[in-house]
Amino acid sequence: MLGQQITRQERQADGTYILTSSTGERHWTRTVILAIGYGILQMAKLEIEGADRYEVTNLHYTVQELEPFRGKHVLISGGGDSAVDWANELEGVAASITIVHRREQFGGHEKNITRMKASSVEVRVPYSVSQLHSKSGETIDQVTISHVESGETEQFAVDAVIVNHGLKSDFGPLREWGLDMGDWCANVSERLETNLPGIFAAGDFVDYSSKVRLIAGTFTDAVLALNSAKLYIDPDAPKAAYVSSHNDRFKEKNKALGVTDEH
Ligand SMILES: Cc1cc2nc3c(=O)[nH]c(=O)nc-3n(C[C@H](O)[C@H](O)[C@H](O)COP(=O)(O)OP(=O)(O)OC[C@H]3O[C@@H](n4cnc5c(N)ncnc54)[C@H](O)[C@@H]3O)c2cc1C
Repeated sequence: MLGQQITRQERQADGTYILTSSTGERHWTRTVILAIGYGILQMAKLEIEGADRYEVTNLHYTVQELEPFRGKHVLISGGGDSAVDWANELEGVAASITIVHRREQFGGHEKNITRMKASSVEVRVPYSVSQLHSKSGETIDQVTISHVESGETEQFAVDAVIVNHGLKSDFGPLREWGLDMGDWCANVSERLETNLPGIFAAGDFVDYSSKVRLIAGTFTDAVLALNSAKLYIDPDAPKAAYVSSHNDRFKEKNKALGVTDEH
């Protein structure tokens, strides 16, 4: 089922669950594996009233192509990987680049920060964008930046503003499910069990002491969670996942296909 956000769970007297989605559809299940990452992710927006009106013109949260920025005076707001990477990518394309970050230290990859600082990119720290100005009411033509500590301001002309303030996570109604959760993740056992019976979890959504927050770690979690769900339904099932070449059912299927296991 695609295009649905699971919002509600109701545990039945027989231990099964009814999951309800944002479309109103209901799904019956004995087990659930939550692989919902950091929930619904959205770009963190510039917190300036009315800023959204420029999103159709020259306020950008993503960069699709470099060419539209050729010869332009570009301001980048942010201090993580994306902000630093776009500053480096646009150098030599844009007429000028100013990067504004609210902290002294950038959070991006060290090598890329060094490259940016050695380039023509103008670095303004610790500043934040405090006002957007527009004569036409349609495009931003000036910005005001404010020093984070002293409040001292500066105003200068721009042709485009790129905002890379990271992502905002929203778990929505899932927070009310009674899961043992921190700000970002659910605490799970080493078998990927949550505190709710029959509900397992995998991937970025989980936290345990040796958690690997990479795609490779997510795959391992998925195998463990699936195995635990199987054992929950069928306690006599094998305790661990095993390779398909040791599975008698595959041996039979291979025989039917005429595949021999000579090697
Ligand atoms: C910026 C960034 C760069 C990264 N780069 C790398 C990298 O280079 N190499 C690497 O190995 N790893 C990288 N990672 C980590 C990797 O992306 C994650 O570890 C992996 O995607 C986690 O997979 P997941 O399935 O747990 O979560 P996700 O891939 O986040 O998928 C979760 C899905 O669940 C959906 N969802 C959320 N809530 C609900 C709900 N209530 N109902 C229905 N659906 C819901 C979401 O919309 C999303 O589609 C990066 C992560 C980030 C954020």
